[in-house]
Amino acid sequence: MSEPELRASPITPTVDFSAEGIQHGFLRLPYSRDDSAWGSVMIPVTVVKNGEGPTALLTGGNHGDEYEGPIALFDLARTLKVEDVSGRIIIIPAMNYPAFVAGTRTSPIDKGNMNRSFPGRPDGTVTPKIADYFQRTLLPLADIVLDFHSGGKTLDFLPFCAAHILPDKAQEERAFELVKAFSAPYSMKMLEIDTVGMYDTAAEEMGKVFVTTELGGGGTATARSAGIAKRGVANVLRGAGILAGKAEVPSTQWLDMPDGDCFSFAEEGGLIEPLVDLGETVVKNQAVARIYPLGRTGTQPSEVLAKMDGMLCARHFPGLVKAGDCVAVLAITV
Ligand SMILES: [Zn+2]
Repeated sequence: MSEPELRASPITPTVDFSAEGIQHGFLRLPYSRDDSAWGSVMIPVTVVKNGEGPTALLTGGNHGDEYEGPIALFDLARTLKVEDVSGRIIIIPAMNYPAFVAGTRTSPIDKGNMNRSFPGRPDGTVTPKIADYFQRTLLPLADIVLDFHSGGKTLDFLPFCAAHILPDKAQEERAFELVKAFSAPYSMKMLEIDTVGMYDTAAEEMGKVFVTTELGGGGTATARSAGIAKRGVANVLRGAGILAGKAEVPSTQWLDMPDGDCFSFAEEGGLIEPLVDLGETVVKNQAVARIYPLGRTGTQPSEVLAKMDGMLCARHFPGLVKAGDCVAVLAITV
C-alpha cells in the first residue's frame, strides 16, 4: 500500500535558494490568530551562494532558550562575504522562531518541541509545519548540517561539539571529521536519551553529515561560549571546503557516552546541592548531588549517585529539582 501523498508546505521563502549572491529574507508561515487574521510567522533566513560546491545548512534556536547558536549565526549572516564562499550556506539562526522570541524551549503557540517534531506535518500546527519544511525542502538541499544546542534554562554543559555513532561508518567518519574541525574544548561521541522525532535523526537517515553542539546553558551565553560557537561554525565551513581561510584549531578533549549509565535522574524533588562541578571526575556510586526536602528541617537529604566512573559533562541548572529531572550526565575521556 502506498502512502497518501503529502500536501505542499504552507511555508513560502522570500529568498531563492538557487540564486547566486547573498540574500537575507524569511520563511513565511501563515498563522491566523486573534491579533492577526491573515498573519504569518516570519522566520529569518540568509542564503549565500557562490558557484558550485557543497551546501551547509546551519541552524540555531531549535530550542528557543539556547543562545550560542543564534549569536554565532546572526553574526555569521551579517559578516559573510560571498567571495569567501564556494558552494552554498543556508543560515537559520532560530529554527523554532516562536520559541526563540518567547525565550522558551518549546513553542508558546502549540507547545511544540522542535527536536521531537520530525518528520513534521504540512497540515499540523506551527511547530510540525516548520519541521516538515526542514524535512522535505531544506534537508534535501544540504550536504552538511550543523545544528547548535546548549543546555537551555534547565541544563548546563561543558562546551562540546558532537556527532552520533551511526550504522553507516563512512557517514559517521565524515561527521566526526567536522566535529574535529569545529574544535570545541570538548568533542563528544553522543548518546541520546530518546531519538524519536529528532532533527538529528531525520538528517542522518537522509544520509546527511550531521553535527551538533552543547555549548553551555542556564538560558544565557557567555563571551567564552559565544566565541566557541563563532569560531566553531567558521571552522566547520572551512573543514567542509565551503569557506576560505585558515581554521583556528585549538586542542580538544574527546569524550564518549558509552551507555545509559551516563544519565542520573532525580527520584524526588527538592533543593539540590551540587557536590561536583562540570569537568570534575567521579567514581561509580559517588554522590553527585544531594536533594533536601523543602518542607522541614532536620531530615536527611537524598543523594543522587553516579552509575559509572566519569567526568561530569552536564548538570541540572536551576536550584530546585523535580522528580524525573536529569541531574547529571557523565562521560568518559577517550
Ligand atoms: Zn537544545
